Amino acid sequence: MTADDLRAKVRDVPDFPRPGIVFKDLMPLIADPASFRGSIDLLADWARPRQPDIILGAEARGFIFGGALAYTLGCGFVPARKPGKLPWQTVEATYDLEYGQDTLQIHADALGDGTRVIVLDDVLATGGTARAKIELVHRLGGTVVGALFVVELAFLHGRDRIEGVDVHSLISY
Ligand code: AMP
Repeated sequence: MTADDLRAKVRDVPDFPRPGIVFKDLMPLIADPASFRGSIDLLADWARPRQPDIILGAEARGFIFGGALAYTLGCGFVPARKPGKLPWQTVEATYDLEYGQDTLQIHADALGDGTRVIVLDDVLATGGTARAKIELVHRLGGTVVGALFVVELAFLHGRDRIEGVDVHSLISY
């Protein structure tokens, strides 16, 4: 399974969720057994040597890739969620999106001093979401050992917003 095989499974949806946005729809990739497994294997190849304790993924597509990746690596998974979804005490960060603004929360006891964390998402766009997750990890004393994405929209320069972090994506546009 190569990055080009995966690229063929990404569907461009113009003007979703707003006019002018070309949405990268990964549902065809996730629904295809070989492509889904192949994407997780490639993510794991990059993540494994960084020895994460935790994969941190935001809802909802970050849960799909993050859960499978954490299982493959034998590490834990921590969900970042929209406000009001998590039952315990939380810490939160607000950030700007390619389209709009949002807030993410994680449980205040989800990780601690020295926990090695890889932040993961399906798509790196402007980098706002990844930056918020990195901020949450730092606030709880964790160490970000990588930021990992299936797709990167390089023309939006999301990497610039998470400077200093080791970044990898499987497919770049
Ligand atoms: P950002 O915070 O701008 O890097 O945006 C990343 C988050 O928004 C990810 O969770 C993506 O799933 C979603 N997202 C932003 N832009 C797109 C896009 N063009 N296609 C698919 N998902 C996107």
